[in-house]
Amino acid sequence: MGEFELIRQYFQPLADKARQGQLILGPGDDCAIQRVPAGRDLVFSVDTLVEGVHFPPNYSPEYLGWRSLAVAVSDLAAMGADPVCFTLALSLPSAEPEWLAGYSRGLAQASDAFGIALAGGDTTRGPLTITLQVHGTVPQGLALQRSGARAGDLVCVTGPLGDAGAALDYLGCAMPTDEQQAVLYRYHYPEPRLQLGSALIGKASAAIDISDGLLADLQHILDASGVGAELDADKIPLSDALVALKGDEALSLALSAGDDYQLCLTIADDKLAGLDSSVRHQLTVIGHIQTKLGLRVANAETLGFRQGFDHFGRSD
Ligand code: ADP
Ligand code: MG
Repeated sequence: MGEFELIRQYFQPLADKARQGQLILGPGDDCAIQRVPAGRDLVFSVDTLVEGVHFPPNYSPEYLGWRSLAVAVSDLAAMGADPVCFTLALSLPSAEPEWLAGYSRGLAQASDAFGIALAGGDTTRGPLTITLQVHGTVPQGLALQRSGARAGDLVCVTGPLGDAGAALDYLGCAMPTDEQQAVLYRYHYPEPRLQLGSALIGKASAAIDISDGLLADLQHILDASGVGAELDADKIPLSDALVALKGDEALSLALSAGDDYQLCLTIADDKLAGLDSSVRHQLTVIGHIQTKLGLRVANAETLGFRQGFDHFGRSD
């Protein structure tokens, strides 16, 4: 199968069905064209997933289709952006119809779910590597950034943590239990918190999506904002499945394992109180920002917890 036939068969349908008003021209020309409405900023981000590094060898192509777009779109959620379109650079060892059908099926489900249209891409032969660039827009000047946390702000997360990290132990299970299936689902089908992110525009002072682990990712907010924080380990939300499977190790996974793609955000207490209750109920307050630099965790003194995953092996 040639490159153009492959694109026509597996990827063109994602451009046709998800096309939005702001994507003026999709795949097929030298560039795609996106129109940015007046009063909005374009926000964009690129992510690369390498087989054997970011997902296991022989990972289900359908899960990978969802997961690859979800983790990229999660960066838009963390900025409070509304998704518009994405490009897909695929490097494939060979054009396997079964793999391509599974991958494009998972990708199409995600593109429908998140309302983001395929705008174009690049297809090459090589080790399995997937690069997605996602584009979104935010009201001008209001994107949520990492640098806005201030002493006294509350630290919140948008859902249970640690499930996806626990799932790594069960990826090879032929007959997973109900609890194992629950955490595996969190790993295979992460859900970027898009609605929450945009509801927090003008309210949250800083935000980040949790890809490398709560402690590691919150530290990025602290570094960018020049502040410190204290968390209460007893407040970290843990799923029933995680506690049933991992017992005493659950907290350590929630603090330090990645792949959950919940948001961690900071917000002043009056702004939190002013949120719609439907938004507020999705937030769990886990600590507060302090002027004293560093990240402290109360009620976790006995834990020799693992630090967040860092690509360059820095443990901070
Ligand atoms: P060029 O050589 O001008 O860069 P290509 O031959 O790489 O163009 O691609 C031709 C068209 O097909 C472009 O519009 C590109 O966006 C699109 N395309 C290539 N690969 C993909 C893909 N994996 N998914 C969607 N569109 C793709
Ligand atoms: Mg090209």
